[in-house]
Amino acid sequence: MIDTHTHCNHSHDSTQDPRDMIENAISLGMEYLAITDHYDGELTFLPEFDYIPQIDLERHFSELNLLKEEYKDKIQVGVGIECGYMKEANDLYLKNLAKYDFDFTINSIHTIEYEDCYMKSYFDKRTKFEAYNAYLKAVRESLDCSYHYDSVGHIGYVMRKSTYSDPMLYSDDHKDLIDDILKTMIYKGKALEINSQSKGTGLDFLPTKEIIVRYKQLGGQLITFGSDAHTINRIAEKYALVADYLKSIGFEYVFKYLSHKPVAVKL
Ligand SMILES: [Zn+2]
Ligand SMILES: [Zn+2]
Repeated sequence: MIDTHTHCNHSHDSTQDPRDMIENAISLGMEYLAITDHYDGELTFLPEFDYIPQIDLERHFSELNLLKEEYKDKIQVGVGIECGYMKEANDLYLKNLAKYDFDFTINSIHTIEYEDCYMKSYFDKRTKFEAYNAYLKAVRESLDCSYHYDSVGHIGYVMRKSTYSDPMLYSDDHKDLIDDILKTMIYKGKALEINSQSKGTGLDFLPTKEIIVRYKQLGGQLITFGSDAHTINRIAEKYALVADYLKSIGFEYVFKYLSHKPVAVKL
C-alpha cells in the first residue's frame, strides 16, 4: 500500500504528529507514505483568511527529511507539499518551492474566483453549473502554473461542501472542459490523484468514475492514490477499494514519487 496525500501538524488543520503517522503506516505494512502539508499561499491574497497560519516550509522540509532518513529501512517517506493554486500565488510558489528538494508536489484547487469553495456562500450565489464550471476552469488554469507539480489533487473537490440537492459533477455538463483538463494533464505528464476523502459527495472517492475512465481512454497512465488523511486513522483509507476499482478498468499501477520521479507500484 501507498498513500501520496496526507497531512500532519505542519498543516494548520491537523494536529497529527508525523512520527505517529509513519509508525502507523509501518504497522499497516505500507511501502510509501507521502506527507503533503498545506502550502496555502493563495490565502495570503485573501484578507479574510489572514487568521490561517502559513506553513513553516523550513521546519516542514527539515523535520520530515530527518524522519525520512530515520525510517528509511522500514518505509519510504515522501517529503511533500500541497499547493493551493491561485494565479496570484504563482510567483510565491515558484520562488519558495525552488529552495527545497521535495519528493512530491500536489497542485490543488481550494479557492475559486477568490472564494473558498468550502464555504456555503460560494454555492449560495451560483447555480450548480456556474459553481462547478468555475471550479473546473480553475483546475484547467492551475495546470499551466509555472512552478513544478507532480499530481493534480482531488478533482471534484467542489462537490464536498456543495449545497445542491444532487451534488454530483456530471461530465456531460462540462464535457469539453474536462477533456481539455485530462488531455493537458496527459500532455504535461501530471498524475491524476484518486482521493479517498469523499465526504459530502456521495462517492467512495474523487474524481468521479466518469473522469477516471475518460483519463484512461485518452491514454492517461499516471495515477496516484491519496487518502488526504489529517488524522492517523485515515491513512491509506479505502486503498483496497480504489485498487480493485482501478484494476477493474484496466490500470495495473499506481505511482509513488521520489525526487519528483514517478515510480510504478503494482496494484
Ligand atoms: Zn486539498
Ligand atoms: Zn490535502
